[in-house]
Amino acid sequence: MRLDVWADTGLLVALDLVNRLHPDASGGVAALADVLAVDPPSAAHLTARDLPGFAELAGELRAVLDNLRAGDEDSAAVRLNTLLSAYPAHPHLAREEGRWRLHHHPAETSLVPMWSAICAEALARFLAGGHASRVGACEARGCGRLFVDTSRNRIRRFCSTACQDRVKTAAARRRGAARNAQR
Ligand SMILES: [Zn+2]
Repeated sequence: MRLDVWADTGLLVALDLVNRLHPDASGGVAALADVLAVDPPSAAHLTARDLPGFAELAGELRAVLDNLRAGDEDSAAVRLNTLLSAYPAHPHLAREEGRWRLHHHPAETSLVPMWSAICAEALARFLAGGHASRVGACEARGCGRLFVDTSRNRIRRFCSTACQDRVKTAAARRRGAARNAQR
């Protein structure tokens, strides 16, 4: 499985929202702006008023991803269907700078409903594509960030190389200490 930065934007944003806004949104609007930087118009329209709505969305997406990680596709599907009906998308063509573009929301849609729809649809496609078991959580102590394992053998254990290196270094230190203790 390969993630495409455009086609899978909703999935990547969903993971980012969960990792950065849940359980606490202490990173504030700056963290949210980082997450939405994949879509410059969204980042440009973002205000502090959007934060509570995104934090709530992050909580709902977290519940979906936790269901998937636990192998409970049924509960994840019920949650996603609730989101999909609360935030419907309306595909339509709009002319922009001389060419037709496909949009899924009217131009005046505010950010939270729009991203709720995008993230819910992306996770629904992910579930329907049979990828549910690819949701993982970082094993580094104190991390727990969620990720989608795109490796062929599904062997990913860490959210980032930073966490992987941290765990490797700690393990090496433990081995060194054990050797010294044996002397
Ligand atoms: Zn990590």
